[in-house]
Amino acid sequence: MEIIKAKNLKDALKLRTEKKFPILAGGTDILVQMRASRNFPKGMICISGVRELKKISLKNNKIEIGAGATHSEVALNKLVQKYLPALTDACKTVGARQIQNRGTIGGNVMNASPAGDTLPVLLAFDAEVVLQSVRGKRIVPFTKFYKGYRSIDARSDEILTAIIIKKPAPKTHAVFMKIGTRRAQAISKVCACFVRAGDKFAIAYGSVAATPVRCKRVEEFLNGKKISAAIVAEALELLNEDIQPIEDIRSSAEYRSHVSKVLLDRFQRILATF
Ligand SMILES: Cc1cc2nc3c(=O)[nH]c(=O)nc-3n(C[C@H](O)[C@H](O)[C@H](O)COP(=O)(O)OP(=O)(O)OC[C@H]3O[C@@H](n4cnc5c(N)ncnc54)[C@H](O)[C@@H]3O)c2cc1C
Repeated sequence: MEIIKAKNLKDALKLRTEKKFPILAGGTDILVQMRASRNFPKGMICISGVRELKKISLKNNKIEIGAGATHSEVALNKLVQKYLPALTDACKTVGARQIQNRGTIGGNVMNASPAGDTLPVLLAFDAEVVLQSVRGKRIVPFTKFYKGYRSIDARSDEILTAIIIKKPAPKTHAVFMKIGTRRAQAISKVCACFVRAGDKFAIAYGSVAATPVRCKRVEEFLNGKKISAAIVAEALELLNEDIQPIEDIRSSAEYRSHVSKVLLDRFQRILATF
């Protein structure tokens, strides 16, 4: 197999068009999948040395996270810690330290597993993804990016270059939660991100449907309300309309449905402490 190391972004985009090889970022998903399927491409374009893809910056009230930033780099970044602590927490739960040092946030997004831990956070914060090719740049809202199970709005010559998130308003409270079989090296049975900004709520879950999902019914019900145990008890009834838990080797649909409710209830208890 031919592994071509891109020197910079321009080089990576050119190679993607000319060679049509898949992108190799940290390799923590694609190499595992290739090995399991015994389906090997003729080559891969390695982007781990492309510095432009590692930048994390704040410009015009928007936080831009380079797709090539590893989970460790995102988690340790001061801007992310200050404005998006829920993303810090999500990155810290991906695999264990070795995986966090190799795996990238862009790989998590493009791999499109419904269990990807950063995805509910990006979805709850209305992130946008920046896709680039030699033809130009496209910006796609995260809410429209996942079309179905592992199906994304990306073209074969494109590279995900960055993820953009609007700087959250002051007094935004956000929490990331994950339930797995243990704390490290466990893929989520259920993960979720809950955000309260003023009297508006954003709630997103992972591992409870074919794609990460925003809980619009529950959000609409909670918006404008002073959250309490009684209100959340009512919201829990609506949750099943937003999620369609899947059954797989990691968990039953029934368990996922139950745990999703437990997490929403836990969010209400956490909010009460702010
Ligand atoms: C032991 C182990 C534990 C894990 N635990 C977790 C976990 O707890 N939570 C979790 O969410 N994930 C987990 N993962 C999965 C994986 O580590 C993450 O999804 C990681 O973020 C993938 O990033 P990567 O850079 O390694 O992607 P790669 O494997 O390099 O790429 C993944 C896919 O995305 C494409 N791609 C990558 N970057 C780009 C780009 N910039 N533009 C276009 N296409 C791109 C690749 O072509 C490939 O199809 C685990 C994996 C392992 C092996």
